[in-house]
Amino acid sequence: MEIKRSGSQASVKGPVETFSGNVRVDPLFQATEPARAMGSYVTFEPGARSAWHTHPLGQILIVTAGCGVVQSAGGPAELIRAGDVVWCPPGEKHWHGATSTTGMTHIALVEQLDGKGVNWMEKVTDEEYAAAIAAARR
Ligand code: MN
Repeated sequence: MEIKRSGSQASVKGPVETFSGNVRVDPLFQATEPARAMGSYVTFEPGARSAWHTHPLGQILIVTAGCGVVQSAGGPAELIRAGDVVWCPPGEKHWHGATSTTGMTHIALVEQLDGKGVNWMEKVTDEEYAAAIAAARR
């Protein structure tokens, strides 16, 4: 048995290649063979969001603080709040992030397929983001 003590894993900044705005990733646990699940806290400051991406085996988001947005390609943008649990099906293109005025933190859980938990795509443009926020608030 292994206990990862609180404060023992350094926070990392969300890479500029795959996130817009200020994003902090706090690792929780890594996938250890033969287990495939990995998890982390991800905190988005207002205006921050992921790039578009897919997960080979899907993803679960557990919102733990604040209010943010999630959107699948071709689907409606939805506000998500602390306590909401989101399932992103395998291969479904989507993004998640804060709203323009409120930060959001979620636990992100994925299972890796052949060592890979995410396939990154293009950034969410400012126009796409603004439209999503406006639609989610309607
Ligand atoms: Mn995702």
